[in-house]
Amino acid sequence: MRIAVLALQGAFREHREMLRRIGVESFEVRQCSDWMYHKDGLILPGGESTTQARLLHDSGLFELLRNDIIQGLPVFGTCAGMILISSLHLATMSIDVLRNAYGRQLGSFHTVSDMDEVGNNVPMTFIRAPYISGVNSEDCHPLASVDGHVVAARQGRQLVTSFHPELDNDSRVHEFFIGLCNGNKRF
Ligand code: GLN
Repeated sequence: MRIAVLALQGAFREHREMLRRIGVESFEVRQCSDWMYHKDGLILPGGESTTQARLLHDSGLFELLRNDIIQGLPVFGTCAGMILISSLHLATMSIDVLRNAYGRQLGSFHTVSDMDEVGNNVPMTFIRAPYISGVNSEDCHPLASVDGHVVAARQGRQLVTSFHPELDNDSRVHEFFIGLCNGNKRF
C-alpha cells in the first residue's frame, strides 16, 4: 500500500504523519515526474484551493490527476482538497461546495459528530472550511452533517471531508480511506 500525497501547498505533512502512524507508506507529488510512481490512492490536503489549483495547472499535474481519478484512482480530499475535487475544479465528484462557508474570521471550530461508514463521535476540526452545498448524483452519498450542512461524502472510491482528520488524534477516517484503496488496481 502506497499513497501519493499532493504536496504543492498546505497540510500535506500532517497527512503523511497520520499515514505513517497507521503503517501506510506515502510519497509527495509536486511535479509530473513524481506521478509515474506506483500508487494505490491519492490524498489532496487542505490549504488554499485557489493557490493549489493554479499550481496544479502550472505544473501540468491537473490533467494527469483528473484522468487517473476518472479511471478509478481512489482519492481523499480534505477541505481545500474537497474544493479541488468539486465542480469548481477537477469536477470528478458530483458535488458543489461553498467556500469559506462558516465565515473567514471566526470560521475555525472543533466538534464531534457521527460519520456513516466510519463511526460515532468522530472529531472534526474545521479551518475556514467549505461545506457541500449540492449533491448532484445518486452515486454520491453524504456521510456526515454538522448544523444541517453536509461535511463529508463518498462517491465510489472518492472521499471528501470539510474538516481535517489529519489534525486530530483519531485515525478512523484515514483507515476508512485505506479500505477504499485496498484491492483496487494500482496506478
Ligand atoms: N478556505 C480554504 C479555501 O477556500 C480552505 C481552507 C482549508 O483547507 N483549511 O481554499
